[in-house]
Amino acid sequence: MTSQHRITIVTGGSRGIGAAIALRLARAGHDVAIGYERSRDAAEETARLVRAEGVRALTVPLDTSAEDDVERLFRTVREELGPLTGLVNNAGVTGPLGRFTETPTDVMRRVLDVNVLGALLCARRALREMSTAYGGAGGAIVNISSGAATLGAPGEYVHYAASKAAVDAMTVGLAKEFGPESVRVNSVQPGAVLTDMHAAMGDAQRPWKKAATIPVGRPGEPDEVAAAVAWLLSDEASFTNGAVLRVTGGT
Ligand code: NAP
Repeated sequence: MTSQHRITIVTGGSRGIGAAIALRLARAGHDVAIGYERSRDAAEETARLVRAEGVRALTVPLDTSAEDDVERLFRTVREELGPLTGLVNNAGVTGPLGRFTETPTDVMRRVLDVNVLGALLCARRALREMSTAYGGAGGAIVNISSGAATLGAPGEYVHYAASKAAVDAMTVGLAKEFGPESVRVNSVQPGAVLTDMHAAMGDAQRPWKKAATIPVGRPGEPDEVAAAVAWLLSDEASFTNGAVLRVTGGT
């Protein structure tokens, strides 16, 4: 895939890392479809910022772990923007921080549903559209994993770490299966990044508490992750496939 007009879906694009990715991609000339679950106002604000860069934006509410919702997202993008060239599988949840033995089953199930099944469903639907074997013109997928995938997140959320390791396994397998069909698939593993996710898991100060253990001495900004994602989706990364890129400040 070289120099085609870019149309990219960013799931979880309403807030945090996803919103920063949407904006970065807009600056790189992508039309952007912003998937979100509930935060309509935040999604519309991200769309406004995307349009201000001179490209098109679309917002679509969905649950990425629901197949019908995923189908509706991709169909809407096709109808309103055109043929897809990229997917950023960014939507993710952690559940509350806590010891593994105290983690409720429904929390584990939701985390696996959104982070693993949701990413698989979105990737499958994107590949059916972008793969040359399905008549597509090729493209690229970036899966947002986590540094937790290799650290294990003991005492915090081992189930989440496991879900992100699954995302990286999926990346490697899809890269090998669909590289021959002109779709590159890569992962980015953010470390502690300043978003609302930490408050949602029960400790808004968590990224700063981690700072002493981060070699660069601070948590990351969403845009520092977005830069890596935008590069992986660009022609500059044309030989990068199956990579798991750590963006953690060195942890
Ligand atoms: P965030 O601020 O909590 O935002 C999460 C985004 O995902 C929101 O747009 C949310 O939509 C959306 N979302 C959640 N569940 C969804 C579902 N079932 N269907 C559709 N959309 C859904 O999170 P973030 O910190 O930006 O994290 C983004 C990604 O980076 C996640 O995959 C996360 O695991 C990963 N990550 C984050 C960090 C970090 O320190 N922040 C570190 C490593 C990895 P609403 O706005 O509608 O709720």
